Amino acid sequence: MGRAKRAGPTRTMKRTYRLNLIRAKRSYSVKDASDLLETHVRTVQGWIKDGLKVLEGSRPYLMMGHDLKAFLTEKTRKRKRPLAEGEFYCFRCKAVVTAVQVERVETGKVMGHGQVGVALKGACAACGGKVNRFSALPKGAVSATDPQAGAV
Ligand SMILES: [Zn+2]
Repeated sequence: MGRAKRAGPTRTMKRTYRLNLIRAKRSYSVKDASDLLETHVRTVQGWIKDGLKVLEGSRPYLMMGHDLKAFLTEKTRKRKRPLAEGEFYCFRCKAVVTAVQVERVETGKVMGHGQVGVALKGACAACGGKVNRFSALPKGAVSATDPQAGAV
C-alpha cells in the first residue's frame, strides 16, 4: 500500500556506489574510479561535467577520493528528493526532467483515503524517452476522460 503511493525513482535507488571503497586521500583517474565503483568510464566523465572536482591542471583528469565521495553522497541525496508537481524522473537522462505530451491514466486502484491511483505518462522534454510517475487523485477529481485531464 505505502509502496504504491510513492512517486519517484524508486527503482534507481538500488544503484548505490560502494563509497566505503574510496580512500579520501588517494587520487583517482577516471579509469580508477570507474573500475572501483563498477561503473562506466563515461559515467565518471559525466560526473565531472556535472561538477565533480578534478585536480587543477590534471590531464588526464585526476580526482581526490574525498571529492569523489562528497560528490556521490550529494548526488544520492538529491536523487531522493521527492519530485515536485510536473516533474518526472527520466531513466535515460538520469535526471529530473519536465515532460511533454503528458497523459493521465487512471490505474483504477483505490489507494488510501479514498484516493484513486493515477499514472502520468509522457515523454522526456530533453531526450524524448518515455517517463511516467504515479500519484493519487482525491476521489471524484477529474478523470482521464475529462477534457482538462491533459493539463497537468
Ligand atoms: Zn530524458
